[in-house]
Amino acid sequence: MSDFACGQLDGFDYQSPRSSGFSGYTYPFLDPASQAGPKNWKQVYDWGRLVFMRSPEFVDAHRKLFSYFSTDLEVSAADADDQELSNDEINNWRDLLVDKLGYTEQIAQLGISVALFGSQIVTVQSKCDRMLVCPHPECGSVVNMLKGIEEGGIDFSYAHGSGKFLFRCPAPRCPNRGRKVAAVIKDWHRRSANDLYIKQWPPDEILIDYYLWTDRDEVYWRIPEYYKQAVRRGHAETLAEADLDVLDAIRQNKLFRFNR
Ligand SMILES: [Zn+2]
Repeated sequence: MSDFACGQLDGFDYQSPRSSGFSGYTYPFLDPASQAGPKNWKQVYDWGRLVFMRSPEFVDAHRKLFSYFSTDLEVSAADADDQELSNDEINNWRDLLVDKLGYTEQIAQLGISVALFGSQIVTVQSKCDRMLVCPHPECGSVVNMLKGIEEGGIDFSYAHGSGKFLFRCPAPRCPNRGRKVAAVIKDWHRRSANDLYIKQWPPDEILIDYYLWTDRDEVYWRIPEYYKQAVRRGHAETLAEADLDVLDAIRQNKLFRFNR
C-alpha cells in the first residue's frame, strides 16, 4: 500500500509531500485512519452507499434538500416573445415530462446521486421491440421475440459464441419448418412519447475515460457479472431486451461504450 491510500484511486495522481521531497510537515492525512480508507473508486462508492443507507436522517435530509430545488415545471415556447403555446401543448408537455418521465423525481434523485457519488450518468431511452425475421427468402415471417416468449410460442436459443439468435420459424408453410435457423434481427424502436424512459446508471458500473488533449470524455458501462451470465446462459427475456452492442461487448468481454 502507498503512503497515501487515496493515491491509488483511479484517475487521481496525488503526490504526497513526502514523495516529492518535502519534509517540513507531517502530511495531515497520513494517520492510522487513512490506512483503513478506501483503496479504489469501487470501495469509495460502497462506503458512500453504506453510510447513506445506514443513516435514515441523512437520507431524509438529502431527499428534502434536493426535492426542495426540484420545483414545479413551467412550460413555455423557446421564443416566448413571438409565439405562445396553447393550453393543449402545455398540457401535453407536462403530461410527458412530469407524469410519464417523472421529471421532478428524477431531478431529485439525480441531485442525491451527485451528492453521494460525485457524478451521475443519465440516459433517455426509448423502448424497442426485437423482431426475429425468418431468413428464408420465400418466407420472411416476423416474430416479436418478447411476445413470442410470453405466449410460450417460440423455440429459441442463443449461440453466445457467434451472437446468433436461433429459432424455429412458426410459419406453417416455411421451407425451414422444423429446423432451427439463425434469425435476422430487426429492432423496431418505438416512436411514441409514452415509450420514452429515463435511466440513471449505477455510478460504480460507469467508467469515464478522459482525453486531456482534446478535452473529450468517453463513457463506458462495466457490465455486471450477473447480467453477462444471463446473456451467456441464453436467458430469453434478457436477450429480447438487451441492446445488440451490449451483446457484442459481452461476447468480446469488453466494456460497453455509450454512443454520443
Ligand atoms: Zn420461415
